[in-house]
Amino acid sequence: MASARLNDGIPFPISFSFAGEPSSLCLELTPNIPPFTGEPLSVFFCDHFHFPLPPGHKFPLAKYRMLREELSNDCRFHLQPASLAGRDDILRVHSASYVDGFLEGSLDPPVMRRIGFPWSMELVRRTLASAGSTLLATKAALQSGFGGTLAGGTHHAYRSEGSGFCVFNDLAIAIAWARAEHGATRAAIVDLDVHQGDGTASLFEGDPDVFTLSLHGERNFPFRKQRSTLDVPLADGTGDNQYLAALQSALRRVWEFRPQIVFFQSGVDGLQTDRLGRLALTQAGLAQRDALVIGQACKAGLPFVITLGGGYSDPIEKTVEAHAQTFRIAASIYGTSLSLPVHHDHSCL
Ligand SMILES: [Zn+2]
Repeated sequence: MASARLNDGIPFPISFSFAGEPSSLCLELTPNIPPFTGEPLSVFFCDHFHFPLPPGHKFPLAKYRMLREELSNDCRFHLQPASLAGRDDILRVHSASYVDGFLEGSLDPPVMRRIGFPWSMELVRRTLASAGSTLLATKAALQSGFGGTLAGGTHHAYRSEGSGFCVFNDLAIAIAWARAEHGATRAAIVDLDVHQGDGTASLFEGDPDVFTLSLHGERNFPFRKQRSTLDVPLADGTGDNQYLAALQSALRRVWEFRPQIVFFQSGVDGLQTDRLGRLALTQAGLAQRDALVIGQACKAGLPFVITLGGGYSDPIEKTVEAHAQTFRIAASIYGTSLSLPVHHDHSCL
């Protein structure tokens, strides 16, 4: 098997398979990127809406611009500015008192402190654009097979409160929209941020039509965990091999659920250079993670949405590199299969 390297040192080809089905679900990524002949992937961004943060704030605001710039010269992506989500879209998920309190700037100070951002009108616009970006990515996925956002993944937001830099839960808002406007009832969320998707788990607990998967650091934030459909807690210091084995096993459950659309919360704070992550994943390990999730979803013919998630590496360029890698792997896989008829019969699995 030939080996080569793609861009930033990722060993290729990456191959994977379900245990027991080695030949039917095996994907090899092309070692050297061939001339791109497919449709560009629709990817939306919202960093054109700036918001102020105090000096020294630990939220990595710059990564969103840096990632957009990193992908902007790649013809495999059609980067587009997001528009603002509407209040009605958000009210499908969040309580009116919380939504209006945030929009008007009248939430109690402890509520804003849990979110972690100082309130401003600029923050309101950026928050609505982040949710809007995920909505546009979801529409693109349902139309063409793939949609991405260089924002979102705000999985710590609950129905009536936010936390951990998350105001509104864009994943839940997008699923609610897909159900209401597109008839896509069964959805899966593959949340690979190192922090548990507690808000998402809470919002969908008991909902038989949404599968929430969360692989996360057992001893990391949030310290009061919620119940996802499938939680995979990981010990501090977990490395690539152990992580990928756990993911492979968990993904089987996702496909058995037979979702009609898949959301990938692609946080990269499991990287060993991350200041908050406490895991020990490498860039090559994250590449294999991404190829597993994206490749299997594409193989199943599922509309696929990628959102960002956490990433707090020092230096922040490591985080940007890992996020860009996720989208490049998506382009390698989905870029040649867009606009194929989306089928909801996954008997091939
Ligand atoms: Zn995180």
